[in-house]
Amino acid sequence: MAGRTKRGRRWVEEHERDPWVQRARKAGWRSRAVYKLEELDQKESLLGRGMKVVDLGAAPGAWCQYAARKVGERGTVIGLDILPMDPLPGVVLLQGDFTEDSVLNDLEAALDGEKLDLVLSDMAPNISGMAAVDQPRSMYLAELALAFARDHLKPGGVFVTKVFQGEGFDEFMKDSRSSFEAVRTRKPAASRDRSREVYLVARNYRV
Ligand code: SAM
Repeated sequence: MAGRTKRGRRWVEEHERDPWVQRARKAGWRSRAVYKLEELDQKESLLGRGMKVVDLGAAPGAWCQYAARKVGERGTVIGLDILPMDPLPGVVLLQGDFTEDSVLNDLEAALDGEKLDLVLSDMAPNISGMAAVDQPRSMYLAELALAFARDHLKPGGVFVTKVFQGEGFDEFMKDSRSSFEAVRTRKPAASRDRSREVYLVARNYRV
C-alpha cells in the first residue's frame, strides 16, 4: 500500500535515503532499529552471555538478531509480533497480538516458568497521525509491557520500552519507578528527532 499515496511515497523516499537504513542493510541487520538497541546497550550494558530475554514488537527482527548475538548459545531470546517474521537462528519467534490473552498465554508457555533478565519492547501501534488516537494506543502497549515485565522479570532484572512523550507519559514514569530502583529515558541517535519516541530504561527490578 505504501507508495500509492503521497504520504506513502514520501515515506518510501525518505526511508531509502536514510543513512541508518543503508548502514543496516550493508551490515545484514533486518532494520535500522538495531542502532537504537545497540546504543542503549552500549550506554546501559543491557545484554550479556547466557541471559534470558523477551522482545515484544520484534518484527522484522533486528533487535532479536542483536540480542541473540549478545546472549550467545547459552542464552534465550523469544521475539513476539503481530506480523510474521522469517526464522532467525537461536531465536524463538511467536506471532500474535500481545493485547490478546491467548497470545500472552502462548508467550508464557514458551517461558516454561523461567524468569527473565531483560524485557524489551519496541511495540508501536500503526500511527494514524492523530495524537488523540495514537498516544493512548501507544501508552496502552507500554503499560501491558510493564505488566508483563513485573510478572516475569527476575529480581534485579531490566525493562526497556519505547514510549511516546505526551499524555500519560509522566504517570507511566511514576508507575515504573514504583517497581524499579532506577528509571531513566534515553533518545538514541537513530531515533528520529521529530518523533516523540523515547526509550524508558528501568533497572534493578524490585519484586
Ligand atoms: N524492534 C524491531 C526490530 O528491531 O526490527 C522493530 C519494531 S517496530 C518499530 C514495532 C513493531 O511492533 C511492529 O512490527 C508491530 O507489528 C509491533 N506491534 C505493534 N502492536 C503490537 C501488538 N499489539 N502485539 C505485537 N506486536 C505489536
